[in-house]
Amino acid sequence: MENKIHTLPKDLINKIAAGEVIERPSSIVKELVENSIDAGANNISISLEKSGLESITISDNGFGMNKFEVEESFKQHTTSKIKSYEDLFNITTLGFRGEALASISSIAKVSVHTFNGIDTPVNYTIFDKEISNRIGQGRNIGTTMVVSNIFQNIPVRRKFLKSEDTEYKYIVETFINIALSKPNINFTLIKNGRVIYKLRESEKLKIRILDIFKSIKSEDLIQISFENGTMQINGLLGHPKVAKAIHPYQYLFINSRFIKNPLINKAIREGYTTSIMNGTDPFYFLFFNIKPSELDVNVHPRKLEVRFNNPNMIFSNTKYSISKTLESFSKDKFQGYFKQEQHKTKQDDMFIEPTKNNSNTSIWQPIRGGGNISNTLRRTDNNHDIKASLNFSKTLIENTKAISQDLLITKPDELIQNFLQIFNTYIVIEKDGKILMIDQHAAHERINFEKLIAIVNNDKSITSQSLLLPINISIDKLTKEKLFTNKDFLNKLGFYFNLNEDIITINEIPNILPIDRIEEIFQNILEELETTEGQGSNSWELVQNKIIATMACHSSIRAGQKLDRYVISQLIKDLFNCKLPYSCPHGRPFYIEIPQNELEKQFKRIV
Ligand code: ADP
Ligand code: MG
Repeated sequence: MENKIHTLPKDLINKIAAGEVIERPSSIVKELVENSIDAGANNISISLEKSGLESITISDNGFGMNKFEVEESFKQHTTSKIKSYEDLFNITTLGFRGEALASISSIAKVSVHTFNGIDTPVNYTIFDKEISNRIGQGRNIGTTMVVSNIFQNIPVRRKFLKSEDTEYKYIVETFINIALSKPNINFTLIKNGRVIYKLRESEKLKIRILDIFKSIKSEDLIQISFENGTMQINGLLGHPKVAKAIHPYQYLFINSRFIKNPLINKAIREGYTTSIMNGTDPFYFLFFNIKPSELDVNVHPRKLEVRFNNPNMIFSNTKYSISKTLESFSKDKFQGYFKQEQHKTKQDDMFIEPTKNNSNTSIWQPIRGGGNISNTLRRTDNNHDIKASLNFSKTLIENTKAISQDLLITKPDELIQNFLQIFNTYIVIEKDGKILMIDQHAAHERINFEKLIAIVNNDKSITSQSLLLPINISIDKLTKEKLFTNKDFLNKLGFYFNLNEDIITINEIPNILPIDRIEEIFQNILEELETTEGQGSNSWELVQNKIIATMACHSSIRAGQKLDRYVISQLIKDLFNCKLPYSCPHGRPFYIEIPQNELEKQFKRIV
């Protein structure tokens, strides 16, 4: 009887393997350009005919090869980059699998012209196992590879290729990924004889980004630099104001390799926390340097994915470094406006005349007493005036001491001299050739949000007030369960209640909240609680933030409220002490700036 099992012919093995590595023309571009980089080139040019469907030519000024090396390089599993199993965990080159040239030559015609500066130049062509290896013409040190007849011998694969435009799009993606990862290399991309990209070498990633992405503005790039024992993060983050819902530029490189990694994407998004709105995403260009022993790069044939030994460590370091970077960026920027003021001479007050203030007025007095129950109010009372809400801020500072004291300014008047409140909603300040417009509600929300978070995170409670007439709300079984499991958290927030059969009776509420809106606020909180698994779950922090944001919102100065100079000064002073003085807790910016020259353009003073 005939044996059913036999060894596959070598050629067929190559074609099967090639299917994994070489999916489409862009895979050829990726492999060959990576080889040029590994060969130490700093000039690499890629030229496409018919989006690579006809031919792809890659030229480099790397160290080249001799006749023997060229022959070897096209065999399967031949590489100059690793020798032993241990080397796999210490890879410093982009290639190491020794498959690319063997794979490409099994599905296309490849011609090589190369010179290493010592041996005679080589002119080598391989097509359908036919090899010619001749002495090449003289040339500069480096290598040129021309790949044509792609998938010609595998009609099924050729059929799977998309239109010229689509294949070109894939190649441009690949080109950009590589060009970003090596700003110190000159890259040229030529399509049908036309130069599309000519990227000059630069020490700076920023210059490379601005060269490639014409829509990105230099001032929207925020530098990040983080390091601990096992990892480094360097690169540029997009300013929160340019976050968007659809396809922001997101580039992630691990040890110089372009990688897709949902875990890191999530950590970055969480690091942006409340600086951007729900449903939007930031752009970023981030380079992770991770100890090779902490990751496995050999999990994907095209090396697009990695596996981490300790994903939690990577996640928390990433999130931490992003949020710290954004915090210090926003703080420097916001405080910068006001620090400059101190060096300036006082200008004529063209805005509001400061009201005479008496530093003994009540808003500067800390609230005495504290405790959980400070006063008893009737349901119809509306004791939620502006001063009370600022008083609340003051009390919170005293309660928590969690807010950095480094920039407390004794007299808030020092911060601003000229300002104007417009539409009873925005505070307009002139600062060093700019107009700063602050949304009073959003700004106050930010202040209250951070103070509430500090209380909860420090295991303190928000002062509550007992209700003369308790509030009853009907609830279903599931809600009751949620309320039961989150009782401690809600107590911390200042809500005290009894749970009956299908009714919750609220006896005490946080004293910062307006009584007449308490039902609506509580319903909001319940809805948030229903979306989470509970405390300690992955989503808990986000839910907690949302609930606290709701409370911050309802305890803040509203749009449409007339504010006096004193209150405004206090607001600015409190913003000074915020960790992230940029946005309200829902991710809307609380201030915008309009440069003077913007006005001058509008008035046609300058063109
Ligand atoms: P790998 O990159 O994994 O080693 P390849 O099949 O891509 O495998 O390349 C095989 C070998 O050919 C490389 O290890 C390198 O020594 C050599 N090589 C390929 N391209 C070039 C080039 N442009 N310049 C110099 N050497 C090259
Ligand atoms: Mg390679």
